[in-house]
Amino acid sequence: MKRIAVFCGSSIGFNPIYSQEATDLGHYLANHDIGLVYGGAKLGIMGAIANAVLEKKGEVIGVIPHLLKNEEVAHTKITKMVTTRKMSKRKVKISKLVDGYIALAGGFGTLDELYEALTLGQLSIENKPIGILNTNGYFDYSLKQLDVMVSEGFLKQCNKDMLLVSTSIEELIEKMQHYKPANVSKIVRTTATK
Ligand code: AMP
Repeated sequence: MKRIAVFCGSSIGFNPIYSQEATDLGHYLANHDIGLVYGGAKLGIMGAIANAVLEKKGEVIGVIPHLLKNEEVAHTKITKMVTTRKMSKRKVKISKLVDGYIALAGGFGTLDELYEALTLGQLSIENKPIGILNTNGYFDYSLKQLDVMVSEGFLKQCNKDMLLVSTSIEELIEKMQHYKPANVSKIVRTTATK
């Protein structure tokens, strides 16, 4: 993988374990020559991972929508900043730049980006690996919700299995490198168009 998009909080959280994990992931990416693509902010977990990659002289590309590009928010020291007109265009741009996605702890923005990536995978519009780093069990309730969605018949198990989960950076990246998309898209698409 040449570049990975990391979705993560614009807040820092109450427990330093989350920013530490972001720092560790940033160092890992830079040390393994994997570029970071992210939301372009200097705040919160987003700022922590960008700074960690830069500290190890790695590549950081920010993709930020015009309305968020103000001095309080935008990171000014990254390798490259791409500005898009709209939030939706920004997601398309991010997807063009990367070979996979990782979500760290975050809020609505992070979950929105994660679920959009999963939805594109479910429809085979994209076949890139999508992982979550489940630091401190942060995503345990989200994963339980996915089980409910499967057991109630709103999510196929094979689609749930697209989501790669680990508490270890090395293991997650390894899972992503060996990811093979399940061929379920045609069934979904055919039924959707009938
Ligand atoms: P949240 O998890 O709600 O804090 O939102 C963080 C996610 O949404 C990040 O992965 C960003 O891509 C995007 N985002 C939210 N706020 C900003 C911001 N101020 N600047 C750039 N991106 C942001």
